[in-house]
Parts: sequence; structure tokens; C-alpha cells
Amino acid sequence: MATDVILKNANVITMNPAQPRAELVAISGDSIFHVGGNDEVDRLTGRFTKVIDCAGKTLVPGFHDAHLHLFSLIRKLTSLDLSPAKVRSIADIKEAIRKVATSKPPGAWINGTDYNEFYLEGKHCPTRWDLDEAAPNHPVVISHRSLHACVLNSKALELAGITNETPEPDGARIERDLATGEPNGVLIGMLNFVRSHVMPRFTEDELIEGAALADEYFLSHGITSFQEATMRNDIGRWETLCDLKLNADLLSRVTMMAGADFWGDFKERGMRTGTGDNLMQLGAVKIMLEIEPEQEELNKLALDIHTAGYQLAFHAVDERTVASAVTALEYVNPHSSVAGRRHRIEHCGECHPSLLERIKKLGLVIVTQPAFIYYSGERYLATVPGSQLPWLYRIKAPLEKGVVVAGSSDAPVVSANPLMGIYAAVTRQAESGQTLLPEECISVDQALALYTVNAAYSSFEEKVKGSIAPDMLADVVILNDDLTCVPPEKIKDIKVEMTMIGGEVVWEA
Ligand SMILES: [Zn+2]
Repeated sequence: MATDVILKNANVITMNPAQPRAELVAISGDSIFHVGGNDEVDRLTGRFTKVIDCAGKTLVPGFHDAHLHLFSLIRKLTSLDLSPAKVRSIADIKEAIRKVATSKPPGAWINGTDYNEFYLEGKHCPTRWDLDEAAPNHPVVISHRSLHACVLNSKALELAGITNETPEPDGARIERDLATGEPNGVLIGMLNFVRSHVMPRFTEDELIEGAALADEYFLSHGITSFQEATMRNDIGRWETLCDLKLNADLLSRVTMMAGADFWGDFKERGMRTGTGDNLMQLGAVKIMLEIEPEQEELNKLALDIHTAGYQLAFHAVDERTVASAVTALEYVNPHSSVAGRRHRIEHCGECHPSLLERIKKLGLVIVTQPAFIYYSGERYLATVPGSQLPWLYRIKAPLEKGVVVAGSSDAPVVSANPLMGIYAAVTRQAESGQTLLPEECISVDQALALYTVNAAYSSFEEKVKGSIAPDMLADVVILNDDLTCVPPEKIKDIKVEMTMIGGEVVWEA
């Protein structure tokens, strides 16, 4: 076996129970072929071997984010950041928009994200007229941190066809000037409409530029694999992603879920869960429970998709929707066994013990987002009803029951940094300092498993990903500290120093 790369002098955390720690990793081609000790360097080194001295630093399997939204992340990374860290007033927002406007041709969209009037001087929301002053010749949309509200300038309102005469849409609101009835630009619950029906899709150049930013973002956080979990994923999205992979615009390995509305198109092309290769494969069929039909229809849909050979991923946050997903799979099971099919509950925000029992029986995988605890813990404690609080984003209870829990970020909802997720799973500390269900804290090893072996299990890839062992893909990350030794509160400050995919160094600090 020709050794292409040796990583030596490393504190290797393998996630392989047969050999938990090691010092050396030997790579041939895109895979690991030996894991052992420093005394083996000479024996394994050939004329063309590249030897990397890790200087005692910690080496872990490449991180795997089991649920995120690449295209929204690209949107965010290519947008103007209007978060409280960047702007303090409406004047600051105007100035930031004015600057962007000078670099874009008239008519090109300007997209700002994460404004939050609570942190602005005077605590007012900007209006269309503020945005008009900054960019009269460009359509402008800025979105609120919660994604619940957005503000459009006059050009953008015109393109959206929103005028004095526009009636109030169902379940949404157009804010109006009290005296004249004229829309003031603030739209509630209409951001998705604006993004998917008013704004143009990415141009080729924007997409490539955005993918490069996303790529850098993933690799700098050690994310060597991710799963794209968007409901809008259709054949076009699949082709776009394949192109990005083919042109090496995106180096992390991708599993793309198919939106439930489009699964028939994938079926027609003979594509099933697992179609593709270890760079880019088709994942589960994603069902969004909030917008999905009654239980009976859901049961039939689940049975159809299951029988056709696909993995299912149910977006289910609250107890009612989690129960509905479980009920659908209990309906499927007697018709066609769900054992071994690894159907997934995405989020599973509220999980009562009786529900957990049913999840265990069906062999389901829970795909959780520990960093929500950090970023939203304060809000959960203030708003989640007391009866549900004990079951919120549980991780230890399902693990103890033998349910596989995979880790993810739901980025761009929160940061995709896996070390932030691991920190949150270990401490369950909110940014505010409050602790959310301390009895659900897990060990560092368990938390690391969420983002490595367990995430690989959730996409049927544990034989090639998630641990450092012979025959695994050579996807590894060097960290500047050992997460199993530092005090838990320091885990979130650990930085990635090097990321390797398939035996190639793809990123270095
Ligand atoms: Zn999501």
C-alpha cells in the first residue's frame, strides 16, 4: 500500500470504540488505511509520502452537519449584515445600504439581513421611505432577525405589486400609514413570498460567489459533510449542486434531501435515497408537517414514499407534529417494516417520554440542533408552556434509550460551528447564562458523536464517515485544543487549524 499522507504526533480522538485514541493516521488515496502509534512512522513512510507533524494537537473526524440550508446560507453570506453588531441606528442602516448601492447597477436587488429594531436608537423599525433615501434606484429588502418581518423600499414594493389597494393577505400583514393607508414597507409573514416570488433567483455569478463563501465557512469550521434539508429541493437544485461539486466550488461532501412535493420527479429518474457517490448523494424525502395534510393523507404519503424505497425526514418541532410523524410511521409499519430504514424526525423540539418510547420502537433517528439552546434558550424558558418545558430538545434521554441522535445547526438559522453545538449539548447553557434542563446534559464524547458517527448513521454513511479507522474516508480536522480536556465553557472557543477531505488539505488557519 503506497502511503500518500501520514499525520503523526497527533492526539487522535478516533470515535472508533475498538481503538479510541491513537497518535498516527496513514492515508492512501482518499481513505485511511492505518491508525496507530508514532513508532510506525518509518515503516509506513515511502519516497512520496507527505508527512504532516501535528505537534501534539487534537485530530478528530471531519464534522458532519446533518441538517442545514445551503441556499439560504448563501443568501445570508452574500447579503448586507444589519445585525446589532454592525448597525446601531436607522442612519447606520441607510449608510450601509447607500454604500452597497454605489457598487451595484440600478435595478439590482439589495438584500439586508438580521436587523432588529429593539437594538436600534429609538427602537423604531425603518420604513420604505428610509430605504428610498438610501437607494432610490435599487429594489431593497431587509429582513428581521426573526425572519418574521421584512421591510421593502418603494422599488421593491412596486415589483411585488403591493399598493394602497392591495388587500390584506391571508395570515400575513401589510403595515400601512395610518393617515393615508399607504403601505409603509413593513411586511409581516411575507418574507418567503418576497424571496421566492418577487426576487430573482441567483444569477450564475452570484451562486458561484456565494458557494465560495459557504465553502470557506464550512471548511473553516471543520465541516467536511453536510445534509441539505430544504423543502424546495427539486431536480433543478440537484443539478445546481452537482455542478457546484463538479467545478469544486463546494468541497464539503453533500447529501441533498428531496422536497416532498418533488419526490415523484426523483422517482421517475430512478433516483433513490443513496443515489450518487460519497461526494454528492440523494438523502431522505423531506416532509414539512406544518403545511402537510390531515393525518390520513399523511399516512398514505408516508406509506407511498417508504414503499418506493426512500428514507423519510419529517420536519416536526412541537409535540403535536412529532406525534403526527410517529403516528404516520406506525401506520406504515404493519404494511412494510420500518425497521432499519432510519426514518428521521428533524428538530423533535418537544419529546414526551411516551413519544420517545414510540420513536425507539420504530428505530427512528432524531436530528437535533443543540445550538438552539444557546441562541434561543432564554426565549424558550420565557415562552414554552410549563407542561412542555421538561421535554425540550432532549438529547440524553433518547441516547440512553438507544435512539440515535444526530447533530445539526439548521444554518443559517444559527451558526453552523459544530463546536458551538457540542458546547451547548454538554452544558445546555443559554447565551443569557440560564441552563435549560441540566439533566439532559451529555458528555463531550457523546456530543462529538452527534456531529460525527451519528450524523453519518443518519445518512447511511457510518461505514465510510464519522470515525478515524481503516477504510474510512480521510476526512479529518485538527483543532487547537482538546475538547475532552478543556473546561466545558471553553469548548465553544476551540478553533479549527486544518481541514482535510479525502486526504487533501482543503483549509488551513
Ligand atoms: Zn431546517
